[in-house]
This record gives sequence, structure tokens and C-alpha cells, in this order.
Amino acid sequence: MRLLVVEDDRDLNRQLATALEQAGYAVDRAYDGEEGHFLGDTEPYDAVILDIGLPLRDGVSVLEEWRKAGRRMPVLILTARDRWSDKVKGFDAGADDYVAKPFHMEEILARLRALLRRAAGHASADLVCGPVRLDTRAGRVMVDGAPIKLTSHEYRLLAYLMHHVGRIVSRAEIVEHLYDQDFDRDSNTVEVFVGRLRKKLGVEIIQTVRGLGYLLADPAKETPPPAPRAGR
Ligand code: CA
Repeated sequence: MRLLVVEDDRDLNRQLATALEQAGYAVDRAYDGEEGHFLGDTEPYDAVILDIGLPLRDGVSVLEEWRKAGRRMPVLILTARDRWSDKVKGFDAGADDYVAKPFHMEEILARLRALLRRAAGHASADLVCGPVRLDTRAGRVMVDGAPIKLTSHEYRLLAYLMHHVGRIVSRAEIVEHLYDQDFDRDSNTVEVFVGRLRKKLGVEIIQTVRGLGYLLADPAKETPPPAPRAGR
């Protein structure tokens, strides 16, 4: 596993790198936002530790740029204590976790392990499936760059499916994860919402998998349809 540490405080940078190396990681180091951005943009890191307060370029903009460019590695941000707004901005920019300074090195190591375990997850606040883009920060949906107006139920349904692209999601699961207890839990209503959603999106990305549920498939990725069960 190869990590990048972006921290302008040289002592702290060294302490981090030393601890991470002792824990068995390969570590690259950067001391300002420009250098950090360049390395994260060009090298295949398994995770990044990114300070928010950096010279030349702040950590939030570095992170936003990586995410815009499709860099999906897990990023743990370091924030100043009591700067809650840094945490909010960092998460909105695509951070996976944060640790506030001063910290215990053990916490950094534990959080990194967790991030590396979850590395298959979604790194960006923007979810994309074929021509459909869902901005989880703004709660906006675009198809081929054009904004689509959805009701809150339609949005939640699409957001759930887009968080699980390539996996069959059952109607029961949708009901379970999307609606509060007072909602009409008749699974036929899910079908109605799916129908409306398909119509509004105008693109064929939601497949019905008979008897199982729905599958959001990226047409560009050629997700094979689930194989019918062998009969004999
Ligand atoms: Ca700093």
C-alpha cells in the first residue's frame, strides 16, 4: 500500500511519514498544496492524508480538483481543532474521513486501515452513471449536462440506486432504505416511482430484473445482465 502525506508542518509531516512507514506503508511526502495536488493527480496512491491549511493551495481545493478529475483514492483530511467548517467543506469536497489536530497517531492509523478496507466505496460527492450525474452536495441531477427536476422521493430513489450501481436492489430494500415508517410501504408504489423516474431521466439505465428488483447499469461499462439460472 502506498500513501501520500500532504502537510506543511515539517515536524508533523515527518512524524506521520515515520509512523506510517513503521506500520508497513510506502509513503510519499508533500509540503504544499501544489506539490500535493500534482502527486495525487499523477501517482496511484491507495490513500492520502491531506492537511486543509496548506501554502500555495488549500487542501479543500486540492481535494475538489482530484475528485473532478476522477481520482477516487480515500482521503483523510487533517483539520484544525474547532474548525467545524473545515470538516464540512472537506466532506463536501470528497473527503472520506477527518482527524482534528492535535491527534494521536494511533487514531490516524486506525482510520486509515478502515479507509483502505472500504476503498471500493464511492469517493466523490458526485455520482455518475452513464449520462446521469447526481450531485449529492446540491441534491441535483443532470442528464447529459441538463438539469432534471425530481420530487424528493424520486431523488432519494435515484440516489440510492446510484450508490449501488451494478448491484441488484430489491423493492423491499428500497422501501426499507428510502421511506419512513409512515410511508405507504406497498412495494407497488416503488414500481410507480421507478416508472416516473425512467420517464424523467429519458435514458435506459434502470433495468428491471424480474423477480429480484432493479439494477442500475452504466451503459458505458457494459454490465452484463444477470445470467438466467441454469435449468438443469
Ligand atoms: Ca497546515
